[in-house]
Amino acid sequence: MNRFFQSLAFKLSLAIFFIASVLLSSLGIYYIRSFAEEIDQSLYTQAQIPGHLMNDEVVPLSLAQDATALSRLIGEEVLLAVIDQPDNLILFCSDPALEGTKTDEFHAYTRLPGAVTTERGSVIAHHQNNGTGYLFVSTPLHIEGETAADLHIKISTNNAHLKKLHVAGGFSLGFTFCILLITGVSALLLHFLTVPRLRNTLHCLKAVETGDFTARIARARSLDEIGVLGRGVNHMVDELERRRTERQQLEAELQAATASAENASRSKSEFLANMSHEIRTPMNGVLGMAQLIKDTDLSTEQMEYANTISTSADNLLQIINNILDLSRIETGKFHLNLEPLDLCTILQELQAFFTPSVKEKGLDLKIDCPNNLPSIRTDKNSLRQVLINLMANAIKFTKKGHVHVAVEYVGKTGSECTLGFSVSDTGIGISKEAQVVIFQEFIQADSSHTREYGGSGLGLAISKKMVEQLGGNLCVSSDPGKGSVFSFNLTVDMEEPNAPRKDTPDNLLKIGGRETFDYNVLLVEDNRLNRRVITKLLEKLGCHVDSAENGQKALTQLNLALPMNERPRYDLILMDIQMPVLDGLKATTMIRAQEGKNAHIPIVAVTAHAMKGDRETFLEAGMDDYLSKPVRSEDLADILKQYG
Ligand code: ADP
Repeated sequence: MNRFFQSLAFKLSLAIFFIASVLLSSLGIYYIRSFAEEIDQSLYTQAQIPGHLMNDEVVPLSLAQDATALSRLIGEEVLLAVIDQPDNLILFCSDPALEGTKTDEFHAYTRLPGAVTTERGSVIAHHQNNGTGYLFVSTPLHIEGETAADLHIKISTNNAHLKKLHVAGGFSLGFTFCILLITGVSALLLHFLTVPRLRNTLHCLKAVETGDFTARIARARSLDEIGVLGRGVNHMVDELERRRTERQQLEAELQAATASAENASRSKSEFLANMSHEIRTPMNGVLGMAQLIKDTDLSTEQMEYANTISTSADNLLQIINNILDLSRIETGKFHLNLEPLDLCTILQELQAFFTPSVKEKGLDLKIDCPNNLPSIRTDKNSLRQVLINLMANAIKFTKKGHVHVAVEYVGKTGSECTLGFSVSDTGIGISKEAQVVIFQEFIQADSSHTREYGGSGLGLAISKKMVEQLGGNLCVSSDPGKGSVFSFNLTVDMEEPNAPRKDTPDNLLKIGGRETFDYNVLLVEDNRLNRRVITKLLEKLGCHVDSAENGQKALTQLNLALPMNERPRYDLILMDIQMPVLDGLKATTMIRAQEGKNAHIPIVAVTAHAMKGDRETFLEAGMDDYLSKPVRSEDLADILKQYG
């Protein structure tokens, strides 16, 4: 019902009802008034007839004494009829008591307001008294052309009034019926002409709403508004369907492209991981052997050759590391490892690390770190790598003058503080054009730089991306010939003053020294050369080393089935990851399952797997830490110090 009152057909019918009511009511009122006037006119004519008949001597004057006969003649009830002389003497009267009396009363009616005089001299006046209507008609009677007397008739207009009421009632009923009929027929017509067609449109739109684009509006050919609307909706649905098909195609293409890009990226990552493994494994041999050679008695020339081998291998390793870092960042596999750190300590370490090269070039290295710096949480390795890259560049591209590293406290908000880092030098500087491109991979400010200064053009690209990962933005400002300043701000969490600190050994910078470790180490490594190198390095550090070629052999060696005091005792297991028969991860899981309570042997992964996420995998398998290949004597010393 509610829906009907809200429907268009109802609203239009209502409008038609109002219009029909106004028009037909006006028409009705007009006709009712015309008929009323006609009734009055006929009464006036009838009321004058007795007078005219008397003047024409068709009826005698004495007829005035017979009200009933006069009523019949006029067709209305005559209440009083009087013939009086000009001196008001009543000659004949329907009320015999009045005959012979004199009264001006009847002439007074002819002076009533609204009294009209007809063509033949009769005066007609209406009078209303106590809700009853009267008509007074005075007709002059002539004898030989002279007015000899007047005939006054008082007529009740009740009959005429009733007639008028009947006419008005009849008309009202008729017009009301017409209004209702017009409205009803219009409503029906409107309903049948619009509702089914609009309902069709509505169904089509509802179908579109639910994603069904197959529905169309049938018979949308007419030229009226609903037809135009229907064609419009059909066109819109066609268009939507076309776009959906296009979008689905695009999505399918996009999915295929994404899948292929993901595939390509996976292949690239796998390729990088494999290449890294393949390159790092022999590099382990090269670096290890170079180190072992350097520990033997060498002539100056031989020492120089061995140093060159070490340096070249180090450089090559740095390039591999850079490419791996870049690939990790690009494939979104770079995850920040937030940990508490003391900036001043790191800067001191960096100072110690760069002092030899600075001294060699006769430069001045200045490090500014305010004493009151709070302890912060950030990715220590990333921050350190950025600073190393920037400092290494500053030293590399400066021939005289100084290199200045500064950290300043910018401000704090809540538990966070902002620190400003800058590395400035008095070196060759960078032109405005070059400043725009040097952050791109493999780009150098000048093509001669590789020849003159070395480098691969990756350091700044990685540094910029790492700073972005840390939440900052690495910028450069430089004056060619005067020097450069690389700077960035980092907003980092501040550490609670008493928060426990995890002091991990610094694999990169701390020099292990020549301490000796009287430890039993089980080395599980499938590559013969690496086994030899690591064994030698460990032995030089004072360890006793047993080796196994794969996880299976390591398990045999450990003999975990025996009671604890009968097993061979190992202080540390160095475990390669990729091995035939049983790999390092599975072997570790099995060792952890079998070793029993209170018999935890530290297992450190030694791997050329340097992709992000590996560390988590190793720890999950039950390993305690991991060492990246190529393994250096200092790294081994640190691990022995920590776990042995
Ligand atoms: P690399 O130093 O290995 O070539 P980088 O990405 O670290 O690669 O630097 C890119 C280039 O930017 C450098 O080759 C050099 O031309 C320019 N550059 C970087 N740092 C400096 C600096 N401190 N002074 C002058 N030029 C610099």
